[in-house]
Amino acid sequence: MTTNDGLHIRTCSLCEAMCGLEITVANDHVESIRPDKADVWSKGFICPKGASLGDLHHDPDRLRTPMIRRGDEWKESSWDEAFAEVERLLHPVIQEHGIDALAAYIGNPTAHNMSLARYAGAFVPLSGITQLYSAGTVDQWPKNVSSALLYGGMWTIPVPDIDRTQHLLMLGANPSASQGSLLAAPDIMGRLGAISSRGGKVVVVDPRRTATADQADEWIPIRPGTDAALLMAMVQVLFAEDRVRPGRLSEFITGIEDLRELAAPFTPDTVASTTGIPADTIRSLARELSDADPAVVYGRIGTCNQEFGTLASWLVDVINILTGNLDRPGGSMFSNPVVPSLACLRPPEFAEGFEFGRFRSRVRGAPEILGQFPVSCMAEEIAVPGAGQIKALITIAGNPAISAPDAGKLETALPELACMISLDNYLNETTRHAHVILPGVSPLEQPHCGDLIWNWATRNAAHYSPAVFPIGDDRPAEWEILLKLAGIVGGQKAAEVDIKVLDNLFFEGLVGALTTEPKCSIYGRDSSQIAAATDGCGPDRMTDFMIRIGPYGDGYGQDADGLNLDKLKTQTHGIDYGPLEPRLPDLLQTPSGKIEVTPKHITADLNRLQQRLERKNSGLLLVSRRHLRSNNSWMHNVERLVRGRDRCTLLIHPDDAASAGLADGALAMVRSEAGQLRVPVEVSDEMMQGVVSLPHGWGHDREGTKMSVAARHAGVNNNLLAPGAMVDVPSGNAIVNGIPVEVSAAA
Ligand code: SF4
Repeated sequence: MTTNDGLHIRTCSLCEAMCGLEITVANDHVESIRPDKADVWSKGFICPKGASLGDLHHDPDRLRTPMIRRGDEWKESSWDEAFAEVERLLHPVIQEHGIDALAAYIGNPTAHNMSLARYAGAFVPLSGITQLYSAGTVDQWPKNVSSALLYGGMWTIPVPDIDRTQHLLMLGANPSASQGSLLAAPDIMGRLGAISSRGGKVVVVDPRRTATADQADEWIPIRPGTDAALLMAMVQVLFAEDRVRPGRLSEFITGIEDLRELAAPFTPDTVASTTGIPADTIRSLARELSDADPAVVYGRIGTCNQEFGTLASWLVDVINILTGNLDRPGGSMFSNPVVPSLACLRPPEFAEGFEFGRFRSRVRGAPEILGQFPVSCMAEEIAVPGAGQIKALITIAGNPAISAPDAGKLETALPELACMISLDNYLNETTRHAHVILPGVSPLEQPHCGDLIWNWATRNAAHYSPAVFPIGDDRPAEWEILLKLAGIVGGQKAAEVDIKVLDNLFFEGLVGALTTEPKCSIYGRDSSQIAAATDGCGPDRMTDFMIRIGPYGDGYGQDADGLNLDKLKTQTHGIDYGPLEPRLPDLLQTPSGKIEVTPKHITADLNRLQQRLERKNSGLLLVSRRHLRSNNSWMHNVERLVRGRDRCTLLIHPDDAASAGLADGALAMVRSEAGQLRVPVEVSDEMMQGVVSLPHGWGHDREGTKMSVAARHAGVNNNLLAPGAMVDVPSGNAIVNGIPVEVSAAA
């Protein structure tokens, strides 16, 4: 028996459901993973991914030692050698070209990792890096923009209160595969089923009859990229039929009459042919929603990464506001996380409200949005010579070679970098171009306490799980790697970076900033006393601090019964403070202190939507999809998740297949203006006519990777077909749903 053997109670950190697990370890090996029935949050729910965390941990391909590349040769190194190599490669680039020649890309797993979620926020200011890219601009940036302008916080994102609603209208979301996105609720399909069981209704709007749509009471197919037109027409109906009733929030909303005017041209008859939804159906959607009590609209990734992502994301909230369903039980509510996230603290530069386009990208002149350029700019910023060209790149838990649009251009550009450093667990399609790979730890090798994800949870709860396999002193934790990198980027010699000093610098700065924040529970207190009263270092100290200043915390002496990290640690199966409660107007941080329902930055895009209505629908459009056993690109090396029939297929409606001369199982050639690929066809009437679908996250057939299982189930990279210039204008988010394609039989 080893010290790690025994039963471990643990939170699964893979997705937003954050399920409680019982992990049995014997001889230092995960023997079994079962749901933790006593978990106060997930109550015994688990999915196949959670059950495979042991496989991920024991995966022989997972990197455990730093790797240095010289030419085509990889060599294992010590941590000191690896950091010295980072310094050797990075310093000359920064000295010669300045800090703007160094970019960072932050990937999606960061949000699910206790260490990275908290310390990516430290890495950026401490390093001084200004060129930031992230998976956010292929994902939820439109929702961030919309929330920033409506409520004054980019992560002030309301969540559908699915446990108490009587009517859920869902667009562009497939929780049967994602288990919830910008919506944390374990066993989400059970919860959706409960809406129908209690006499309510679930309506799914999606170009594909997903498993979620199959279970719903009604499926309404929609032409990709036209959700904003549908929602705007619903707004028009609400005004035209005198159904606008914001209720309690009326006095805290500005711009409602402007909205009436803006919506007037978008009648159901005007948008019907564009959306493919009959005008009477649109009217019924608006009436049913307005009659139901309570009701909620929820839009997710399909409404974000499309042609009118920001308009659609904004309109989801607008309809909840107009129908009086914002901030009420059973409607669209704001969580009050037990452990508030650092990411939710508004950066000082936006204290007077959000501004966009403060600077522009060098090559195409794209405006920055919330401090980032679209990730589709990254390839050209590396490839095109000139002052400000990206010469060095740090990737943090990301695989943009697969997850970013115009993947072909990025694949060509990455080898041009003078220096590329990756913090990653695998030698994958992106990190094969790195010069140094600094391996992180497996999810089971570090403690876990959820961070930003709790911001869109359906209850206010929290967990803390210790590491199942704690790492030794012979390797750094991920937060320490980030601080070391920050010090090196900042100009220090690798051997001289003092992680403790940087950690204290960041922590004390954070405490100092929050003692000057009027809404914070420690406002006006002595920051040095608060810092001194918080033990430890790293993510644990940060977590303790955030709990204590949070809504259930002890406020550093203000509430003796309040929570702190030590108390949370004693709650093995988590702590649950109950369902969400109304939080407005206190939560609002807009310049007016009200919900600013018609922000110019967003409504200016209605002209573009109007022009879209004049464009006839034609040709095939490509949308992406996901599977329950998949997690973007990063779970495909787990045999038990990828075995079985090929999931990387082109779904196509029978009539479209017949037109293209394709039979089920045949090989199709799919072409867009960005690229082409060959993929097996799956003929299915679950697709609406005129729309085809490929899953995202595949394409593991590249030379020089070390993911033996994934390579045997390579699939194709759908982002080879996504043109980089196609972005949602107000947010810069990539359009990966609704790409015009041609499909034919492959030779
Ligand atoms: S639903 Fe998500 S959190 Fe729950 S077990 Fe599956 S991957 Fe883990």
